[in-house]
Amino acid sequence: MVFVLRSVSILGSTGSVGANTLEVLTSLSERFRLYGISCNQNILLLHNQITQYKPAIAVITDEKKYTEFVNQHGSRIGDTEILYGEEGLNEISSQKVVDIVVAAIVGFTCLRPVINAISSNKTIIIANKEILVSAGELIISSLKKSKARLLPVDSEHNALLQVIISSGLEYRINDKNYYKSKLNNLTITASGGPFLDLEFSEFKNIKSKHAIKHPTWSMGKKISVDSSTMMNKGLEIIEAKLLFNLDLENINAIIHRQSKVHALVEFLDGSTIAHMAEPDMKIPISYALTFPDRIYKSSAEKTSYDSLTFEDIPISKFPCYELARSAAKNGKNSGLILNAANEISVEYFLKDKIMFTDIPNIIQEVFDKVEITSNDNIESIIENDNEVRSISQGLIKEKYGTA
Ligand code: MG
Repeated sequence: MVFVLRSVSILGSTGSVGANTLEVLTSLSERFRLYGISCNQNILLLHNQITQYKPAIAVITDEKKYTEFVNQHGSRIGDTEILYGEEGLNEISSQKVVDIVVAAIVGFTCLRPVINAISSNKTIIIANKEILVSAGELIISSLKKSKARLLPVDSEHNALLQVIISSGLEYRINDKNYYKSKLNNLTITASGGPFLDLEFSEFKNIKSKHAIKHPTWSMGKKISVDSSTMMNKGLEIIEAKLLFNLDLENINAIIHRQSKVHALVEFLDGSTIAHMAEPDMKIPISYALTFPDRIYKSSAEKTSYDSLTFEDIPISKFPCYELARSAAKNGKNSGLILNAANEISVEYFLKDKIMFTDIPNIIQEVFDKVEITSNDNIESIIENDNEVRSISQGLIKEKYGTA
């Protein structure tokens, strides 16, 4: 059978979601064509990806690394053109030829390219939860004005979507009335991270090297730290609220150590349907790429579902989770403040300049200093984000005695 090829750009192709996306695209090569890829600093891997996957455009966002790369290889490798910075990202996310944009850059850098992709009516597959948390209202209002579609690739939200679609319902992003009339509760699962069983009194001794070891998923450093503080689950609560818009008390998380059940949807009649799969990002990525069909064939062995356990989150040990829930409740720029203060704190923690237990305290102190307000355009969001970051840095320097 001959299919119409769909063109894909990957913002952040050298990270774990990006690399998994390239593998999925390879196995579905009769349906997809790679258009653009990007990296920040990992030019060695980018070069390998250019030679192996031959995209039309490759973007390097770090200025030094871009110069280094172009000095070494020139601004074209075979048929691949090398572009620089945010302009390059905008190019690969809004070009007419592009159908699907995979937003897999960690952090705030992909906000503008995603907004551009939305106004260019693309299908956006979003792995970046920070911008959903920080700029959710703007993203939803932009989506309402365009024909673009935003599909979550975060495993839990992708699982919620799979259950909702498999149950005959529709994907209507942020449609409160619709989902309230169909669903009772959404539950996402959390592996619990590496410190679930550690005594709280030991938390002060946690170093970054311990926090980046995730028990079940293989992921980048920032998200691994977020998993270890349970901030990741908190951000995911905000993300679920944004996508499906049930009341906050109907969106919850539970600990499920095996990471095989990813989400549970309780319908109006009291039936609960769960999504189960091996913890393999290729599953949600492929579902989003071929949505609403299932075309990807997993090469994994038969999954075993013995000894599945569920337990409540010990919230007193993980204050970041509650901080995120209250941000979800307060709305406006609370998610932005939470995310920016968290990113800065995690950055310092990764250098072992602050303690693990300082992270929630810093975030709380930043909340005490920053005004809650609404940002309705991209400029004010970026300005507000920069402001919160510099307040967070100032606070860390002043109170935690670090440069
Ligand atoms: Mg997740």
